Amino acid sequence: MSAMAGTISVLLGIEDAAELDRVTAQAEAIVRTLPGPARLGLAAGAGTLDVLARLTTGHSLDGLDAGRRDALCTLLESRAARAVEAVKIPLLLAAGTGLLPGPPEPGGLVRPDAVLDCTPSADWPACATADAVVVGSGAGGAMAARTLARRGMAVVVLEEGRRFTAAEFRERPPLDRFLDLYRDGGATVAVGRPPVLLPEGRAVGGTTVVNSGTCYRTPSRVLRRWASLGVPVEDFGADLDEVEATLRVAPQPMEPLGRNGLLALAGAERLGWRAAPLRRNAPGCRGSAQCAVGCPHNAKYGVHLNALPQACEAGARIVTHARVERILVERGVATGVRARRPDGTFFEILTPRVVMAAGATQTPLLLRRSGLGGHPGLGRGMAVHLATNVAGRFAEPVDSWSGVMQSVGIEELHGDGILIEATATPAGMTSFPLPGIGRRLRGELDEARHLAVLGAMIADAPSGRVHGARHRALLRYDLTREGAGRLRRAMTAMGRVLFAAGAEEVLTGLARDPVVRDEGELTRAVAAASRADLHLAGFHPTGTAKLGEAAAPVDPSGRLRGVRGVHVADASVLPTCPEVNPQLTVMAMALRIARGIR
Ligand SMILES: Cc1cc2nc3c(=O)[nH]c(=O)nc-3n(C[C@H](O)[C@H](O)[C@H](O)COP(=O)(O)OP(=O)(O)OC[C@H]3O[C@@H](n4cnc5c(N)ncnc54)[C@H](O)[C@@H]3O)c2cc1C
Repeated sequence: MSAMAGTISVLLGIEDAAELDRVTAQAEAIVRTLPGPARLGLAAGAGTLDVLARLTTGHSLDGLDAGRRDALCTLLESRAARAVEAVKIPLLLAAGTGLLPGPPEPGGLVRPDAVLDCTPSADWPACATADAVVVGSGAGGAMAARTLARRGMAVVVLEEGRRFTAAEFRERPPLDRFLDLYRDGGATVAVGRPPVLLPEGRAVGGTTVVNSGTCYRTPSRVLRRWASLGVPVEDFGADLDEVEATLRVAPQPMEPLGRNGLLALAGAERLGWRAAPLRRNAPGCRGSAQCAVGCPHNAKYGVHLNALPQACEAGARIVTHARVERILVERGVATGVRARRPDGTFFEILTPRVVMAAGATQTPLLLRRSGLGGHPGLGRGMAVHLATNVAGRFAEPVDSWSGVMQSVGIEELHGDGILIEATATPAGMTSFPLPGIGRRLRGELDEARHLAVLGAMIADAPSGRVHGARHRALLRYDLTREGAGRLRRAMTAMGRVLFAAGAEEVLTGLARDPVVRDEGELTRAVAAASRADLHLAGFHPTGTAKLGEAAAPVDPSGRLRGVRGVHVADASVLPTCPEVNPQLTVMAMALRIARGIR
């Protein structure tokens, strides 16, 4: 038995040999995709557990009988809770995705794959020319490419990821897709206390291929703030209208909502709180709860299904597997880009216009690699929507992974920067609150059908930073005292909704008080949790190349200061936290920036 299998059998309480083989193979696949530092961290965590096992029992992890395993689990929970948590999360992902239902029924596509003019970089010539190059094919890049191509420019979109099809989303297991669709296999982490997981998509369509399809318009209070920072936002509503029409945004119908969303609605109603099905870009959604790993029905309407094919119809071309290494600049003027193929060879495209849309963590890195990172504001003040989950245990099965993945919004506390969204990602990806290890965790996994999961994200005071000028961004994010306070209020509010909906218990995800039985216990548990105890993920990084007056790296028209011919049109340009899921805002901003490019 490998060291990995030993760790898995102890932490996840797996006895059955076939199941252990399956989960071990999944876990090894996860480990292979992790970036070096995360792999080292995981190995260190597993090594610590093995040393503890040897010291306390005289045996390695894979040589323990059932009684010794139980005793070791009790010891680990009390003495090495943080090391256990670090190792447990990827293992839960490996075990939990096996709970998802099998492939959908054949012939159930809501729409076919789009017609895209995609060329793998291996088949692209060493040198070419274009009127404009767009770096990145996600929310911002797609809108920019469509706008420029419709004006008659010869546009080439360079995308580091590849094209995915609905057939793949139907045939490949969820975990495989997860590891393939995200940068670093979904394990991008911002260091800080506590560290924050910050997943980002990497595909034709960018993060819109894996996002939840929730569509909020930019709140007017946010637009007023931006106007005061010198950002031209007049008539922004018209751009949002155009984006909504492109994405076919509409309120999510009740029919495929699923019990997870219905319980959120019921709990909110009993509390007298404002709540409703979310507005989404998923016309025809069948409720397979797999948005985060690519919609197997092509119902979620990411930009790979609308703005990108429309750009191609207007003549744009997409080069896949093309990682842009640098922007070429001569005497302060952009002259082209150099990109790398997966085999290590390079190609160049000569162009007078480069539109950066590589996303908020990659855009500053690429600008620095190109010698364009001189502005002191670049990469600083990154805003992130910090998110946390709690789960409610119900007597009846909830089957949270059957229904719309992100279904209902509870806006009661939005004025205070807290947005609650009922979010049931595929099992295993929502297992953060599952308490315990060993037999206890095994029991939780077996009973996961009875859990309803809510998530909340908070507006932060932008305190993140993108470091680095080479190939990998080093992300730093420090949770502020105010942010921690909001997260605690969010956890308490979510617990109240779940209790009001009839939950027998609430799983907090807190190591010291993982399960609470009433609101009083919940309030005490949350108040006692330190900042480092909070289980956080971060979504929607923005603001790393802010648009604004002289102090900002990007001028009000979207042009990067200090060079001619480079524009930024992705989440990087948002001046402050948008306070809502940002895809509409990013796309509307990209639309108006691209419209202004001469
Ligand atoms: C799990 C998840 C769920 C989400 N759910 C929602 C939601 O429900 N609603 C919502 O509004 N928002 C949601 N978001 C966020 C939203 O999708 C993003 O904010 C938005 O897509 C950002 O757009 P962008 O253009 O800045 O970057 P992206 O869409 O991330 O696109 C950037 C693209 O650039 C490519 N790239 C990067 N570097 C290079 C390079 N050097 N060379 C070539 N290509 C490169 C990347 O591979 C990627 O494809 C979610 C995000 C995540 C992670």
